[in-house]
Formats: sequence, C-alpha cells, structure tokens
Amino acid sequence: VWLSEIMLQQTTVAAVKPYFEYFITTWPTVQDLALSSLDDINAAWAGLGYYRRAANLHKAAKVVSEDYNGIFPETAEALLSLPGIGAYTSAAIASIAFDEPVAVVDGNVERVMTRLRAIETPLPQAKKQVLEYLNPLVPKDRPGDFAQAMMDLGATICTPKQPACSLCPWNPNCKAYKLGRQEDFPVKVPKKIKPIRRGVAYVILRKSDSAVLVEKRPDTGLLAGMVQVPCSDWTHKQDDKDKAPPLAIEWQSVGEVEHVFTHFRLILDVRAGHTDTAAPNSMWFVKQDELDKEALPTVMLKVLKKAIPDLKIIRRAKSGLAD
Ligand code: SF4
Repeated sequence: VWLSEIMLQQTTVAAVKPYFEYFITTWPTVQDLALSSLDDINAAWAGLGYYRRAANLHKAAKVVSEDYNGIFPETAEALLSLPGIGAYTSAAIASIAFDEPVAVVDGNVERVMTRLRAIETPLPQAKKQVLEYLNPLVPKDRPGDFAQAMMDLGATICTPKQPACSLCPWNPNCKAYKLGRQEDFPVKVPKKIKPIRRGVAYVILRKSDSAVLVEKRPDTGLLAGMVQVPCSDWTHKQDDKDKAPPLAIEWQSVGEVEHVFTHFRLILDVRAGHTDTAAPNSMWFVKQDELDKEALPTVMLKVLKKAIPDLKIIRRAKSGLAD
C-alpha cells in the first residue's frame, strides 16, 4: 500500500504498474529496500518523475527498518513522521492497510465533497471544510473500503466534466446537483503561469564507440542524485546559459527541448560534439546500450533523443520504449 501510494502521487496507474512490479520483485521487503543503494533506487525510478519521492522512499524504508524493527507504524499520526509521507498518504495507508477510521482526502474526494456541500471557498483553502464534512461520514467498520469507494466515486462518476449524477448514490443529498451547478465545484483560483528557465545541455559522444558523457547531479535540490549530460545552470537569466562548456571541442547546435517541472518550464538548447579525450573529473562515459542502467530523468531522455535521433533506451522497469 505504501509503495503504490507513493508511486501514484502525480502519476497514473498505467505508468506506475511496471515500476511497481519491478520494485516489489527486486526489493520484496522494506528491509531489502533499506539495504539497497539510492543510486539503484534512482535508476529503477527513472522515468516516473518527481524524483524526491525515490529518495524519501529510501529514507522511510531505513527508518521503518531501523527504528520500527521492519514493521510499519499503524496510525496516520505515526506514519506522518516518515519521510515522504504527507497528510493524504498517511491517512490512506492507515485506513486501507490498518483499518484506522480516518478521513482520506485526495483530489477526487475534494471534488465529491465540495459538490455535495456546494462549498464556495476555493481550493486549497477549502480543505479544512472538506475534512469537517467528511470526518463524521467515515465509518468505524471498513474505513479503508469507504476511503477507496469515495476516491473511485470521484474518479469514475463524479468526474470533473459531466459527472454521471443519475448513477451516484449521493445524489439525493448533493447540493450542487440540486442547484444544477455540479461543474462549478470545486472552486479554483486561476493557475499562475509558470516561469521559464533556460540552459544548455551538452551531448558529448566518444569518437571510438559513441559512448555518452554523463555526470551526477548534486545530492540535494531538483533531480537530486540523478544522472544528466553536462549542463549549464538552468536559470531565468538568458546570459548565464552560455557559460563555458565542459570540453573545448567543436559544438553543433541540434535544437531545443522543453520540459515542464512543478514550478517552472525548462528550455534547453542542446549542443552535440565528439571527443577522444578521457572523461573529465566526476564525469564518465556510458555506452548507448547501457544508458538504461543510469538514473536518467525524462528531461535527459528528451535531450539525448534530440542529439541522437535513433537512440533507443529501454527502461529497466518498463516493458515499452521510454518516452
Ligand atoms: S450527485 Fe453528481 S455532483 Fe453530486 S456527488 Fe454525485 S456525481 Fe458528484
């Protein structure tokens, strides 16, 4: 339950399935996960996005293994203290795995509750009201089934557009339905436009075998500990992106790639070149057919494909070609 809930944050079931199967097979117990290296976990997570989840998964596995003797705490309050587990995830695990009668609120449940009660306060401020209305409804008997039923109701019947109210068991009590204003809820404040950052990504191929030069990102911050081709800083200031490339070789500009992160849009100018020198300090060459073993985030796959159009990387945890 813990692994699936962490993987499913911001990600669809279809995308998660092969990763979940790989993790469960490779690290069947929380102790196995705690004893593995973060590099291996990052590599297995590559392509799933929101990479801090992988680092927190590893940290939480260590806490459960060392402080709780390998046995998960069973209450939402105790689970909340584990790395990477927030209000939703702690409640979901406690309710589904341990039958604790706590309210589980995800985006689907927020939609159902704001419609049931016609809550005019916009999200996220309305979260408190949603909890106030939902708490008394949570049954002591089978709270986990209730939580999953509410989430399924939101996902399949009380959908964002054209909810199937005639099939909904709540319709006699639903204020939004009575008012004919279902799609007015939840009220949302307009989204901010994401700022743009720019940078340069350098794809350097070794002349003898076309192996790719890569480096590890810092252990903290965005895409912490993941692998990338050498890059300039990713900055709001256009001028900074042209700071010195990692090698003094002839560069060919091969185009731009764009990737959207949570807080900004990144546009990378991709440049390609060849070398027969050794890898600079803290960088290494990876043969193209071994790139799948590296913890390359999706933005780096886009960069590599821009520079090497016929490159095929098969993700370790995926059965299909990487995106
Ligand atoms: S009646 Fe319609 S709007 Fe109200 S909870 Fe059910 S599906 Fe959602």
